[in-house]
Amino acid sequence: MKRILVTGGAGFVGSHLCERLLNEGNEVICLDNYFTGRKSKVVHLMDNPYFEVVRHDVTIPYFIEVDEIYNLACPASPVHYQHNPIKTIKTSVMGAINMLGLAKRIGAKVLQASTSEVYGDPEMHPQPEHYWGHVNPIGIRSCYDEGKRCAESLFVNYHESNDVKVKIIRIFNTYGPKMEPDDGRVVSNFINQALQGQDITIFGDGTQTRSFQYVDDLVDGMIRMMATGDDFIGPVNIGNPVEFTMLELAQNVIELTGSSSKIIHMPLPSDDPTQRQPDIRLAKEKLNGWEPKIPLREGLVDTIAYFDELMKTASIHKLMNV
Ligand code: NAD
Ligand code: UDP
Repeated sequence: MKRILVTGGAGFVGSHLCERLLNEGNEVICLDNYFTGRKSKVVHLMDNPYFEVVRHDVTIPYFIEVDEIYNLACPASPVHYQHNPIKTIKTSVMGAINMLGLAKRIGAKVLQASTSEVYGDPEMHPQPEHYWGHVNPIGIRSCYDEGKRCAESLFVNYHESNDVKVKIIRIFNTYGPKMEPDDGRVVSNFINQALQGQDITIFGDGTQTRSFQYVDDLVDGMIRMMATGDDFIGPVNIGNPVEFTMLELAQNVIELTGSSSKIIHMPLPSDDPTQRQPDIRLAKEKLNGWEPKIPLREGLVDTIAYFDELMKTASIHKLMNV
């Protein structure tokens, strides 16, 4: 049995990861400051004696004896990470320093949840890991993009200067059950708008693309990356290479929900990347043949069912005044 720390463990991806690590027979410590996470995402795990939840902020050092650390703490939705940009940078940079310092002290392996945002608005398509990116260092997304880029630099330098066992994954847009309905990301927005018969808000003309990965495929890639030998540190792209325009996503959501919602267009936020698609050849080679298994429509069906249920429970609570 390994003891594993998951920072950001009460968030969307972290809660799925905690559950999977527990199911595989590990002891899991979920650390979170609940900025965008919720206890309700992990409450069903709390009966398990091998699961612990700690309220803590990664910008402050934390000491514990563990074998592995998954560093996920950081808001991921543009709405949330732009809410307090300085805090977002502190979370990425000081969080990385604190988790790397901990890993160095106790000899643990530490995995950084980096992002496709390190490629910015890419001029190379699809994006391989050797592409350096095209990021506006003073734009509205820079608190996240540059924070994550600095964290990657810290991970590589702690590895090279201090022999810390590190792993870096670059995650592309991921969706699935347990996303927050109001976190502003496109999949949760479109599904919730469709389920409520509201207008579907496409920013810009909807020709910008993203490649959407179902959360189970990501968790599988993360665990495989952690299990690789010490000589492979990444970075490695973890994403689904099938690319969609936002118009195509909206049409799929409307069809699968049977909604009568109409599509409306709203202004495109600044620095919004025009295209994004991972090159996953390195992941396939290094992660034992890993590749995403869940196609978009299949993942959307599960995600729609989750939000539908959430909405019903919320309206029952409203009716019962609880
Ligand atoms: P999320 O917002 O649901 O989860 C982030 C978690 O980190 C939340 O539980 C939040 O409360 C916690 N957190 C934030 N700041 C913290 C701090 N200072 N101290 C302790 N906890 C803190 O986001 P997510 O989608 O689950 O993303 C998880 C990780 O994966 C993030 O690091 C994100 O950058 C990365 N990532 C996600 C995606 C995606 O599409 N979901 C894409 C690329 C990268
Ligand atoms: N987007 C949209 N409507 C929304 C929310 C987002 O058209 O209601 C667009 C957004 O402008 C971007 C894409 O969808 O082009 C993905 O946005 P998201 O915030 O999910 O992720 P990111 O931009 O970080 O990839």
